Amino acid sequence: MARCLVFMLLFLISSLISTVGLLVEPPAELLQLGDVGEGRLSVDRSDVLEASRDFGGLARAEPMAVFHPRGAGDVAGLVRAAYGSARGLRVSARGHGHSISGQAQAPGGVVVDMSHGPGAEARARALPVYSPALGGHYVDVWGGELWVDVLNWTLAHGWLAPRSWTDYLYLSVGGTLSNAGISGQAFHHGPQISNVYELDVVTGKGEVVTCSKTQHPDLFFGALGGLGQLGIITRARIALERAPQRVRWIRALYFNFTEFTADQERLISLRGGRRFDYVEGFVVAAEGLINNWRSSFFSPQNPVKLSSLKHHSGVLYCLEVTKNYDDSTAGSVDQEVDALLGELNFLPGTVFTTDLPYVDFLDRVHKAELKLRAKGMWEVPHPWLNLFVPASRIADFDHGVFRGVLGGRTAGAGGPILIYPMNKHKWDPRSSVVTPDEEMFYLVAFLRSALPGAGAADPARSLEALAAQNRRILDFCAREGIGAKQYLPNHKAQHEWAEHFGAQRWERFARLKAEFDPRAILATGQGIFRPADSPAPEADS
Ligand code: FAD
Repeated sequence: MARCLVFMLLFLISSLISTVGLLVEPPAELLQLGDVGEGRLSVDRSDVLEASRDFGGLARAEPMAVFHPRGAGDVAGLVRAAYGSARGLRVSARGHGHSISGQAQAPGGVVVDMSHGPGAEARARALPVYSPALGGHYVDVWGGELWVDVLNWTLAHGWLAPRSWTDYLYLSVGGTLSNAGISGQAFHHGPQISNVYELDVVTGKGEVVTCSKTQHPDLFFGALGGLGQLGIITRARIALERAPQRVRWIRALYFNFTEFTADQERLISLRGGRRFDYVEGFVVAAEGLINNWRSSFFSPQNPVKLSSLKHHSGVLYCLEVTKNYDDSTAGSVDQEVDALLGELNFLPGTVFTTDLPYVDFLDRVHKAELKLRAKGMWEVPHPWLNLFVPASRIADFDHGVFRGVLGGRTAGAGGPILIYPMNKHKWDPRSSVVTPDEEMFYLVAFLRSALPGAGAADPARSLEALAAQNRRILDFCAREGIGAKQYLPNHKAQHEWAEHFGAQRWERFARLKAEFDPRAILATGQGIFRPADSPAPEADS
């Protein structure tokens, strides 16, 4: 009965779109329907507006309705109805809306709100399980669960934690698994998509399929890094490890890019237990560092010898590493850290150390978020650019971009620039994510915030200026044949997507799309198989 109502509703919406276009108000019948099955279809203005925006603030498209599911069955019912509708109504899962360019939007269709609403609160969570076959623990989580909630849950039940992270935890499991999910642990554990045992996926035909490396492996690997194209992830089985208690967090500075990257690459190549647990890095302007050094990372008890930096202007590089420990290893952590640092070539007198609980380290970006929110600087446009750059070309990238396009003035980037390497052998080649054709490659992330009204006061921080800088960086990479691939990719035309994937992988991805989402109704905000305003192909039957 509930499914029948969903179908009727979608039929109504769909006919409305086809007859009078998208500018109409939802009909009264739609408003009267209220709850549908276990989930709730909403046309509340606040829901619709929320679903039409994202963190990037660059694209805005309103859905006809927002669906708050209570479980996989609700999602499947909705997708089945959309699949059978005359126009192939768009359905997009929305994790936490942290995309940059409207990837989770569904213009004129239905957005499935995976992370909010009554369903999210009422849902019972599964306890972590030990599997002798896997030789470790795992936990089954809802696809819309936020990583911060997964962490708090698994810590509370056995002091366990996922192994691989993103820098920021207020992202959804399904959202990051549809991309890759990376942070400074990826060199050791691989991205988050390498730390999943099993998925439940609602395909574009509305079927719920349980898949893993051995069960429907095409769908399993295709959905991991699959940009939401093959289905909606409603459950993920996440690998866990024993969580450490504390973290020694260290930063050190470099003038010399070659020494900086050589040290990063050496650190991610260490085998066995003698290694850091997290390796990242970022690009900084010497001037900004000298002015803000004390207030940024370190406590006043951490004296800074800046004499060596006094006469330096331009670009500096900051290595960032951590070592996890607990009571049983507290006695040896200093020695281990000193031994690892002793092999590196950072500038003498620029090592800074802090020590904090593991949870506080993982949740570090949230603190910055709260500060930015307080200043009204969180809800600004974010024209981010994330690139995977092959290690063999990272020096050319430094020369052409940090010193070239940016002219050595990192402040002109409008936000932090992260740079850290990863090992390709930790990424399963069967997943859909696209990385460069080299064993080692870097993430270079320009995490930009445009200043509202910056056009006059600070033209370099205007949205237009930052977007233009992105284009110059992409042009440089194309012109110089850097072989970079976009992470969290944003391409406009299908031939650009085909180029992004490369011939063989594109052929495979398109084949999987035709099998699992034949009417191309899912995640059309990515703009891969169906532009926002085009109709869907006819249904099979
Ligand atoms: P959404 O933006 O809501 O969705 C992203 C895409 O996935 C959409 O196409 C959507 O339709 C699809 N989707 C969402 N849920 C599902 C699902 N359950 N099943 C299938 N498809 C789904 N990424 C990193 O890897 N590392 C980082 O350190 C990192 N830090 C970040 C910090 C901030 C402040 C922000 C804003 C983003 C960061 N990201 C990072 C990027 C993040 O991984 C992406 O934004 C990603 O899309 C997850 O966000 P979300 O859960 O809000 O997904």
